[in-house]
Amino acid sequence: MEQTNYNKLPIRSNIQVDKRKTKLCRHFRKGGDQICHYGSKCIFIHPEDGELYQNLIADTEEYHQQKTMINEKIGKLYQKRKVSSNFKKKQEYAKTINETIRQWNEDYPKAPNYYDLHGMTEQGAIDYVLDIVKWMRVKNVKTSRLETGKGNHSVNNIPAIKTALLSGLHIFNGCSFTPLPNNDGILELTVV
Ligand SMILES: [Zn+2]
Repeated sequence: MEQTNYNKLPIRSNIQVDKRKTKLCRHFRKGGDQICHYGSKCIFIHPEDGELYQNLIADTEEYHQQKTMINEKIGKLYQKRKVSSNFKKKQEYAKTINETIRQWNEDYPKAPNYYDLHGMTEQGAIDYVLDIVKWMRVKNVKTSRLETGKGNHSVNNIPAIKTALLSGLHIFNGCSFTPLPNNDGILELTVV
């Protein structure tokens, strides 16, 4: 972890005004301690900077911590679901898993029209994408991005969402899914 005592560095007079609030403060970056003694005088972006901070949310320590918590919660739910012999209980665990991930996307959207489906059950991901498509049609949004992961097979009980979506194409009338050329773990969803 970076331990530079950034707080004790003098403010350089050659920092141009137009450089203010263009980069995330290192204290709030992934791995940062989330304490900046410059407070509101800091020239870098802080959580209080609203939209500027939200635009960089995926790089923040806050996001990283929340994501770790969610992943742990989801992992435990999958474990409980796996060992339960009660069908109704299994369904309840799946429901909680999928609702948790939908809520995560609402609370911490990585970018506009970007959905992280990691950890959802296959059916949960399909239902979610059907809702996303409905919403896109209402809002007249043409493309969205779906983070599915690259896996073609189930690993550690985490289902292969990409495969589920691509093989269930017939359910998604008038939609296409195209893997991004530079990252095939993300599908571009286009709605006609
Ligand atoms: Zn700062």
